[in-house]
Amino acid sequence: MLILISDAFAPDLPDRLARFGEVTDDKSRLPEAEVALVRSKTKCTKEWLDEAKAMKLIIRGGVGLDNIDREYAKEKGVNVHNTAAASSIAVAEVAFALMLAMPNHLIRGHNSMETGDWIKKELKRTELYGKTLGLLGAGRIGTEFGKRAEAFGMKVLAYDPYLTESEFELVDVDTLLAESDYVSLHMPLTDETKGMVNKDFIAKMKDGARIVNSGRGKCVVEEDVVEALKSGKLAGFATDVWYSDPPETNPFIGVDNVVMLPHLGASTKENMDRIGDIIVELLEEYYPDKE
Ligand code: NAD
Repeated sequence: MLILISDAFAPDLPDRLARFGEVTDDKSRLPEAEVALVRSKTKCTKEWLDEAKAMKLIIRGGVGLDNIDREYAKEKGVNVHNTAAASSIAVAEVAFALMLAMPNHLIRGHNSMETGDWIKKELKRTELYGKTLGLLGAGRIGTEFGKRAEAFGMKVLAYDPYLTESEFELVDVDTLLAESDYVSLHMPLTDETKGMVNKDFIAKMKDGARIVNSGRGKCVVEEDVVEALKSGKLAGFATDVWYSDPPETNPFIGVDNVVMLPHLGASTKENMDRIGDIIVELLEEYYPDKE
């Protein structure tokens, strides 16, 4: 059996998987591979699946399955799994770092010290304590993020049309937007959530509110956010995620009050180790004779 490691995983993963078969990272061997390990970079499209003639199992290290044509995979009898629970803490922590960076001017403060400018008087901070956070999506990551916000003394509201109960007060989206000082995206990319953060959405937000996006880039209409930052309607936008990795165009370059990361949400060592553990467990389930 050939296992294709198509994206970046923990360095010790090939050794851990050796007992199940041959392990390769040579993508030209896709037609021979029975198992593929992907993250978000590999796009498992119809064409990719047609080329993967021997494929039986795709494991997506991480949560979002929007890079995999699951319907077509199902038609072709290819099983698809993710490692959903592994990444929650890693993403919640990076989202929290993004949220903290904005009112504390971490980027401008740091850059000013690099250039020798002392802009202490210009940089007015505000506290997270006592502010309201609105979660869009209160699943695994949203919940971990919300718990951290509560520990900082924030009030946490959540909008999640698919939940009837949550650790946080569930409200409708308009109430959430009207009351939140920070809005954080933790829903999947779906037809419903694509472009959800647009002009109309932003117009319903509090003046001077801030957005954190550690969910999916395409949930946001970037140009509308840029316009709102320039007009002062939004006081900040911090994002880990993009329309593509890396972005082909980036309208946030040079815009004030933006914090940008190159999709680091899942990239902790601990998460990579947990993903490796789940992959081994899944392969043990599918190939019990290789124990
Ligand atoms: P989850 O399935 O546990 O939670 C997602 C929640 O979103 C669910 O409760 C669902 O009901 C809710 N939801 C669905 N449609 C919604 C809508 N229209 N409005 C509001 N809520 C809606 O998933 P999770 O593990 O918490 O991950 C959430 C997302 O985070 C993933 O889908 C992925 O896109 C993103 N993610 C990003 C990174 C990163 O590196 N930045 C890493 C992992 C996951």
